[in-house]
Amino acid sequence: MNFVVERSLLRDLYYKAAEGERISEADALRLFESKDLNTIGAIADVVRQRKNENRASYIINRYINYSNYCILSCQFCAFSRKKRDKDGFELSVEQIVEKAREALALGITELHIVGGLHPSLPFSYYTDMLRALKQLDPRLQLKCFTAIEILHLAWLAKKSARETLVELKSAGLDSLTGGGAEIFRKEVRSEIAKGKESAEEYLDVHRTWHQLGGRSTCTMLFGHVETLADRVDHLRYLRMLQDETHGFTGFIALPFQPDNNFMQVRNVPSGFDALRTIAISRIYLDNIDHITAYWVGMGMKLAQVALSYGADDIHGTIIEEHIFHMAGAKSPQLQTEAEMVKAIREAGRTPVQRNTFYEPLKVWEPLQATAETAGSSTKSSLLEGNLATA
Ligand code: SF4
Repeated sequence: MNFVVERSLLRDLYYKAAEGERISEADALRLFESKDLNTIGAIADVVRQRKNENRASYIINRYINYSNYCILSCQFCAFSRKKRDKDGFELSVEQIVEKAREALALGITELHIVGGLHPSLPFSYYTDMLRALKQLDPRLQLKCFTAIEILHLAWLAKKSARETLVELKSAGLDSLTGGGAEIFRKEVRSEIAKGKESAEEYLDVHRTWHQLGGRSTCTMLFGHVETLADRVDHLRYLRMLQDETHGFTGFIALPFQPDNNFMQVRNVPSGFDALRTIAISRIYLDNIDHITAYWVGMGMKLAQVALSYGADDIHGTIIEEHIFHMAGAKSPQLQTEAEMVKAIREAGRTPVQRNTFYEPLKVWEPLQATAETAGSSTKSSLLEGNLATA
């Protein structure tokens, strides 16, 4: 234990975490109400180290939004459009396959595909898309759809969520995305995403997917109208489901973005708030192996710092992000592999390229062996990033 922690009012929680003891909701709220970020980070670091040792991961992936047309109008959403809007779009299966083909040439292992709740595309569009992508490359991992999209597809297919998930799985779906969790408390949901699925429905879609042998990630959108107690309550539901199914591979805390929506949020998440939320998630979610610092929402610099505050993953190359950028994110559209490796190494961790399920694909050599690469300037393409590893 370091000197700062020794003198901290939170040191009892450090002991708990160090001994592998689960913290309570009251403990989590105490952490959220503390300003002692250094101690919170030190506690999270103990848990991170125990779970993931000195490794931090990233994935080479591509995002594709098949459409931004949506029948809902969540108040916080800057992404959705109606058919009358000039900047609405929808991609054909052929266009999606073409984007996937281009990205495969850059070395991606995963496609992350989500969209709005499209008013008229048939269920067969989604199964055709999955089949066509698997036909392009059966090794490509397809991480697609949020829980609310699954409910929409079930409605289209006139089937139960379970039957729908079975069909999507047989068409090629590898993993569900974690999006759409927002904040579970009903009053907050109706203020930010009226009409969206309930907490129970979100959790039930993931529960069913896990029961079918599937894996997924989970999220929390923080820094809008919720209280700190709402955040703890949200994490409590995720921890309970994970105790039941063990199907979540990772958790991602998503900082709210303030632009182009119907909400009046003045105090968007600060760096302090992002770091403490990631750290407390790491400490509280003791049954979820991986915590991602999402560079799109917090910027790569802060995501890098988060590696010392409980995170062990900085997500992926992405290539083309719409949802956060339409809501005001100032981060770039993509990261190169070289940039992510550099950020991880500077933070003192060993970079690991992972797949969708956080399984290692490539473990990098120790920093001193490739110090030149770690100090190199930004690479302009994913391929250049890959060449730096050779
Ligand atoms: S958050 Fe999703 S469901 Fe809600 S309006 Fe936006 S695209 Fe539609």
